[in-house]
This record gives sequence, C-alpha cells and structure tokens, in this order.
Amino acid sequence: MSDNKIPQATAKRLPLYYRFLNNLYAKGKLRVSSKELSEAVKVDSATIRRDFSYFGALGKKGYGYNVEYLLGFFRKTLDQDEITRIVLIGVGNLGTAFLQYNFTKNNNTKIEMAFDADPNKVGQVIGGVPIYHIDDLEEKISNITVAILTVPVSEAQIITDRLIQAGTSGILNFTPARITVPDEVRVHHIDLAVELQSLVYFLKHYPLDGGTE
Ligand code: ATP
Repeated sequence: MSDNKIPQATAKRLPLYYRFLNNLYAKGKLRVSSKELSEAVKVDSATIRRDFSYFGALGKKGYGYNVEYLLGFFRKTLDQDEITRIVLIGVGNLGTAFLQYNFTKNNNTKIEMAFDADPNKVGQVIGGVPIYHIDDLEEKISNITVAILTVPVSEAQIITDRLIQAGTSGILNFTPARITVPDEVRVHHIDLAVELQSLVYFLKHYPLDGGTE
C-alpha cells in the first residue's frame, strides 16, 4: 500500500482534516494557513505542518496550503471515491441510536444492514437500514468486512468469532468486552463508560490552565 509510510497518529487525524477542508472547499476557499487549520481542528500547528509534510504538501509562507491539492490527496488516501459498507450487530439502545443518527452522511462509509437476535426487531427498517436475524449473518455479509459491535457484553466474543469466520477484518467494538481476535483483524475499542470516567478523572487531576495553546 502506498500510504504505509504515514505514521498511525497522523493517519488518525486524516478524517478530521478531510472534513474541515471539504467544508472550506465547498465555501470556495482555495488556500488555508496552518494557523487557521489549527484553530478549527484543535491540533497544534507544528503537528499539522509535520502531518502535512507526509502528504507531500509543503505550505508556503504567507500563502498556506492549497485546499484542492490536499483534498485530492485525502480523497485518494481515505478512498473517498469508494464507499465502505458496514454492518451493525445488536440493535439495542446504542445500536438504534447509531442507525438513526446518520453519522456516516458525507462520509465514505455506510451502514448497510443490521442484525439482532430479537424477533421483534428483525424485519424492521431503522434509519433506512434493514434488520436481519443474527442466524442469517454469514449468508448476508459475504462482502462486508467492517462491523460495529453493539451487542451485550456476554455475546461479544461469540459474535466476533462468527464475524471473523465470515471475513470481517475490522471491528468497532462498543461493548466493554476485551475481545480476542487474530493478528490480522483490527479492533478499535470505544468504551463510553471508560471514556467518561477518564474525562472526569482528568478534569479532577489534570485541570487545564487555559490560554496556553
Ligand atoms: P434494549 O433496551 O433494546 O434491549 P440495550 O442496548 O439495553 O437495548 P442490550 O442487552 O445491550 O440491550 O442488547 C443490545 C442488543 O443486542 C439488543 O437489541 C439485543 O436484542 C441484541 N442481542 C442480544 N444478543 C444478541 C446476539 N447473540 N446477536 C445479535 N444481537 C443480540
């Protein structure tokens, strides 16, 4: 892959940059300074300059970065021209919220189908996404390689194993379960309770003094 040399921390900021630049482009802006970018995306400008040097974008003093060039780069790197299909497992409170809250709009991902074990949920369409029975998982997801996991913690590993068996290579895990996967499968873990607890802890023990950025 051609983007292998971009550090992971930089790669994680790509979607953030992309979204902001897309807005600028839509407003007809041709260039942007690292300072403007920094204020908008809340990343310090030294980091932005370093990140952008990996993209082959060298800002010119007093000119800034060429918005169209950067967008072209991001589109290619993030495969914006190609929509990645996603599957969601577990249409409970959280899963339903994800289906209803169309966070993949203006994005290169699309939740295409959802699965649940509850017969009352199967057959419904939420936020335009059809819900199938979990028994039909393997038969339906043959070409989908990314999954969002919002099942109860007790089901997380079993469903994970089935997803991987069916060819899933990326899982966004919203359950508190620390799931076990083979080396070639990537899991991003988002535990909302832990994140909240960590925020509260940081507020208490590492108060921001403000004005230093
Ligand atoms: P709700 O109030 O709708 O049950 P919840 O988020 O509190 O929502 P959970 O117990 O966390 O409920 O379950 C989340 C969803 O996962 C539910 O819709 C449940 O039916 C579904 N679910 C449970 N077991 C499985 C399974 N093995 N495969 C797929 N979905 C499952």
